[in-house]
Amino acid sequence: MTLRGKTILVTAAGQGIGAASALACAKAGAKVYATDVNADLLTKMSGVEGIETRVLDVTDVAAIDALAAELPDLDGLFNCAGVVHHGSILELDDAAWEFSLNLNITSMVRMCRAFVPGLLRRAESEGSASILNMSSMASSEKGFVQRTAYGATKAAVIGLTKAIAADFVAQNLRCNALCPGTVDTPALQGRINAAPDPVQAEKDFIARQPMGRLATVDDLTPTVVHLLSDGSSFITGQSVLVDGGCTI
Ligand code: NAD
Repeated sequence: MTLRGKTILVTAAGQGIGAASALACAKAGAKVYATDVNADLLTKMSGVEGIETRVLDVTDVAAIDALAAELPDLDGLFNCAGVVHHGSILELDDAAWEFSLNLNITSMVRMCRAFVPGLLRRAESEGSASILNMSSMASSEKGFVQRTAYGATKAAVIGLTKAIAADFVAQNLRCNALCPGTVDTPALQGRINAAPDPVQAEKDFIARQPMGRLATVDDLTPTVVHLLSDGSSFITGQSVLVDGGCTI
């Protein structure tokens, strides 16, 4: 699987799945723009062959439009940024809902709107371009307790993905959604540590994975590279589950 000759932008690439994906894309030969809201987290990427960094807050529409003007020639876009709100609908106040909506789905609408014209130009000249949107198994794929805002917004990511895929399928711009199971990342560790009983919380996260273990970021990155590469040239509009069998 190669990404040689491709230019790919990854959001939320400062740590976790985004960081691992940026590194994997660079290793597969892509020129990668690794972006994150947190400039400090990006410093570990500087000097990595094939990677350039940019600070990008995906909730800042002016910053998105400015970056799209600076980087008009992407072949691939991985919209990875997102946040977990913990709680049922009874714990979901308007501020938390707006925050989840803004970061998990409105940001992707704005990223796609800004970068699709350039991606379409590349699709026309090179024969392919690809968008990957981060969803989750906790979406329209499956309901989970305490995941109202998360499940609703990640389901919207799948709807957005299918709509974009349908609009541009004849122009060789593909769009897919990635739906991971529970992945061991700094965000997950934060949720575990914030629980009243962190040891039990970790056991509970593992228990919901039928393979009896959490995913590592390395369980996901081959699929990220595949979906951004021409090896997946006949795959579009799909929600691709990498969930260790959770939704069997
Ligand atoms: P993480 O916390 O480990 O990393 C998230 C990154 O997002 C951080 O570097 C952070 O600085 C960045 N970020 C936060 N707000 C941002 C903003 N406004 N603009 C740009 N960057 C911002 O998280 P993770 O667990 O790797 O999750 C990444 C994505 O994967 C999220 O969309 C999440 O919903 C999704 N996901 C995670 C899991 C899991 O179990 N970890 C499962 C399914 C889906």
